[in-house]
Amino acid sequence: MSDPALELAGVTRDFEQGGRVLNVLRGASLGLNAGEVVALVGPSGSGKSTLLHIAGLLERPTDGEVRVGGTACGALGDSGRTALRRDAIGFVYQFHHLLPEFSARENVMLPQMIAGISRRAARARAGELLERVGLAERAGHRPGQLSGGEQQRVAVVRALANRPRLLLADEPTGNLDPETSGQVIDELLALVRGEGLAALIATHNPDIAARMDRTVTLKDGVLN
Ligand code: ADP
Ligand code: MG
Repeated sequence: MSDPALELAGVTRDFEQGGRVLNVLRGASLGLNAGEVVALVGPSGSGKSTLLHIAGLLERPTDGEVRVGGTACGALGDSGRTALRRDAIGFVYQFHHLLPEFSARENVMLPQMIAGISRRAARARAGELLERVGLAERAGHRPGQLSGGEQQRVAVVRALANRPRLLLADEPTGNLDPETSGQVIDELLALVRGEGLAALIATHNPDIAARMDRTVTLKDGVLN
């Protein structure tokens, strides 16, 4: 058996706000097996984004442990966390966060080149991924020349460019109309399942959650 793609064990996160401490996460635990696709639901403000940022090694928990592919992340320094995030984790936000001065293809090439892949191989991988989401004809367009759904498709394939084992997505279609949202989620799930990735996807939409293997709910700082 391979190691779980992601394990959260007793994760807590406190924020200080105006002299008061806010206990947003109060011991959240989760195991995500390789290839498992899980919906993360919970009311607005329940801590879904906080949890995903901690799972994605973008923030550290106040207490508790995060393991990615079996590696305990608490003991890693910042450079070790950055390397693990780059190699093992893809992240999709609600807003695409594409670089506006670069084409769709270049946006998908950049993380690969940062990881040391040759320009030629990065370009080939970018072209192949963009084709899989129906954007072969648009590869040379900048984000500003693309629709919201197209921008988010580029953000999805950018997250997969370095062949991570884990995809984390924070309401990835929250800014799209329902029809486009359904299409982008279908493509995202087809890619995730095609590449055998584990995924944790925050969503407000019960129809979207129902397309995943299971749902975990964040409430009162814990996952059930
Ligand atoms: P969700 O994504 O489920 O809507 P968030 O993780 O964004 O929830 O936020 C959970 C709670 O943590 C909210 O009450 C929010 O105000 C608070 N929070 C999030 N980030 C910070 C921060 N950097 N400083 C202080 N409070 C924060
Ligand atoms: Mg959020």
